Amino acid sequence: MKSLSLIWLSKSDLSNLNSGEGGGNLTELKLYDNKTKPYVSGQSMRRALFDTVAREYEDVFKCTPELPCTDIENCWGCDLRGFLATEENVGGSKRWSPLKVSPALGQLKKELVTDLLTRHSDIEKEGMKSKDQRMAYVQMVDNLYKMSLVIDTANIGRVVEPEITGNKSDKKFAGWNETVNISGDDKKERVNATLDAVFNLSGFAKQARSMSDLSPDILFLSIKETYNQRGQQIFDLDENGKLNIDKVETILKEHQLLGNEIILGLTPGILDEDNEKELTDLFDSYGVQVVSVLEAINWAKEKVSKAEL
Ligand SMILES: [Zn+2]
Repeated sequence: MKSLSLIWLSKSDLSNLNSGEGGGNLTELKLYDNKTKPYVSGQSMRRALFDTVAREYEDVFKCTPELPCTDIENCWGCDLRGFLATEENVGGSKRWSPLKVSPALGQLKKELVTDLLTRHSDIEKEGMKSKDQRMAYVQMVDNLYKMSLVIDTANIGRVVEPEITGNKSDKKFAGWNETVNISGDDKKERVNATLDAVFNLSGFAKQARSMSDLSPDILFLSIKETYNQRGQQIFDLDENGKLNIDKVETILKEHQLLGNEIILGLTPGILDEDNEKELTDLFDSYGVQVVSVLEAINWAKEKVSKAEL
């Protein structure tokens, strides 16, 4: 197992409008696609994910992102967040996060904006700064978001540094030195804690007051023998909010040809009925299990527990 890829859709609906905590601001909320769709930045997604892990495993986050302790072996914060090492702390090597988190992209253009703004005019009074922010806020309330996470399992708890020989005028790269590599069991614990955090994903209170939940409603989960980020488009929705089943099939077929292990976690009623049936029929025809999101996450945790890491 070299990597785990999770691509999911999350439905955010009107019930979220009043569910958040007061205060907060919307600086992280933006619009894309000619300002017709909302998104939550990759940075906000990362923060929410790490905050969700940290809620369950407080002791092992030993520093803040602003002041990294750089202790990959013991600090989950520095390991999972990654940090840009300077010359002093890790011999000049750069280390990137073993977790690649995408932005959450709203898939649907919404025509309801004006109506909603009128009905919820209190939104405006509570400190929204610009029209764009108000639109983003209202549009995000009722949308389907697509996002993804790739876990580079081989590089959890691991640091490699370049070995340089020779003097100033005649420097040579002599290979890579592994300076930190935690035990397989420790890696598994960090990977499975991350999987749990996806299931429980929340922690947006500070960035997006009412966006309390972007956890998966439909989850395409694959376990890969190589590290890649392929397949991200599987859950792109068209203008009518439908999955393109041909595209889904192409990506599914590629994953199977590569020998990836796959499962689909599905919450009924997120897609329209016909589209949902097309999706489940397709996965059935490829012999891929369709289960609940929780069962899909548990399936992956079980695989991680038994893998060689
Ligand atoms: Zn740290």
